[in-house]
Amino acid sequence: MANVKVAVRVRPLTPRESLDGGRLAVQVEDKYIRVRNVKLDGRSDGAVDSREKLLEFGFDYCYWSVDAEDAQYASQEEPHGAERALNPQWKPDEEKLDFNPFLPIHMLPYIPLCSLPHPVFQDLGLSVLAGASEGYNVCLFAYGQTGSGKTYTMMGSQESIGLTPRICEGLFRSVDSFPDGQNSSRVEISFLEIYNERVRDLLRLGEQKKRASLRVREHPEKGPYVQDLSQHVVTDYKQALDLLEEGVANRITAATHNHDASSRSHAIFTIQYTQAILENNLPSEIVSKIHLVDLAGSERADPHYCRDRLTEGSNINKSLVTLGIVISALGKN
Ligand code: ADP
Ligand code: MG
Repeated sequence: MANVKVAVRVRPLTPRESLDGGRLAVQVEDKYIRVRNVKLDGRSDGAVDSREKLLEFGFDYCYWSVDAEDAQYASQEEPHGAERALNPQWKPDEEKLDFNPFLPIHMLPYIPLCSLPHPVFQDLGLSVLAGASEGYNVCLFAYGQTGSGKTYTMMGSQESIGLTPRICEGLFRSVDSFPDGQNSSRVEISFLEIYNERVRDLLRLGEQKKRASLRVREHPEKGPYVQDLSQHVVTDYKQALDLLEEGVANRITAATHNHDASSRSHAIFTIQYTQAILENNLPSEIVSKIHLVDLAGSERADPHYCRDRLTEGSNINKSLVTLGIVISALGKN
C-alpha cells in the first residue's frame, strides 16, 4: 500500500462566485480531474478558447457530486458524484460501508456514525483510524488556497460534521467497544498552531507567556516533539470535541480578499492513542499519533497587502514548499 495518498475534493461555487458569473473549471472522471485553465480574459460564453489548456491530474480519491441543475460540485454527504454521474443507479458499496478497521481487534461490527454515509470519512477517516489501531503514526493534511474548503473538510460545522470530530468519534467508538474491564487504551489530545514560524498551544493560552512560542525538539527515541505543549487526557467524545472547539476559537484569523475570516496559520490537532497489549505474555504499549492538519491558505501573497500580511504569506509559502518536499520524499519511499 502506498504510504502517501492524495484525495481531491471539488466544492460548489459559493453564492458570491455564482453572482460574479463564476463557472466550474474542473471535470471529474473516476480518479482524474481535468482542469480547464481559463484565461481571465477568456470567452464568457463557455466555448473552449484556443488559449484554454486542458490539464489532467490523477488522484487516489476524487470527490464531487451532481445536483439537480446538473451543476457539478462536492458535498459533505454525497462525494461519490463521479460514480453517480456515470451511473445514476449507482449505490455506495455496502460491504465497503461496513468495513471495520477495528474488527481484527474487537471483532465487533462497525456502526455507521450517522444515518447518511459519508464517503470522505469512509475513505480517509477510516484509514486514519485503521492505521492508528495498527500502531502507525498517521497524518492527514488539508491543502488548498483560502476558501477552497480545508476547514469545511477537516472541522466542518454543526450541520455538516468534518473529519476531525468524526475521527474522534470513531476512535471512542472503538475504545468504548472494548469488553468491560478491558479498556486498556488512553487518548490524549493536543492542539497547536504555527503562525509566522511560531508555535502556539491552542489549549493553554492563559498559562502561556504572551506571544512566547514553543520550541520544536527532537527526542532520540520518540522523535520530534513540541516542548511544553499541553496534552489533555480525554475519556469520551464530548471532551475531545470541547477541546477541538476551544482550540478553533483560539486560532488567529485575519481578513483577506478571498475570505472574511481566513486562517493564516497551520493548525495541528494531535491525538495520541496508546494501546496496552500483551507481547510474549509481557505487558507492553503501542503508541500511535494521529495528526490532523488544517493548513494555512496556499495562495500567493498579494503585493497590495500590508507588511504583516506579506510576512505571513512568505512564511506560509516557505513552510508549504518544505512540506511538499517532505511529502514527495515520503512518496518515493
Ligand atoms: P478554507 O478553510 O480552505 O479557507 P472553508 O472551509 O472555510 O475554506 O470553505 C469556504 C466556504 O465554502 C465555506 O463557506 C464553506 O462552508 C464552503 N464549502 C467548502 N467546502 C464545501 C463543500 N464541500 N460543500 C459545500 N460547501 C463547502
Ligand atoms: Mg480555513
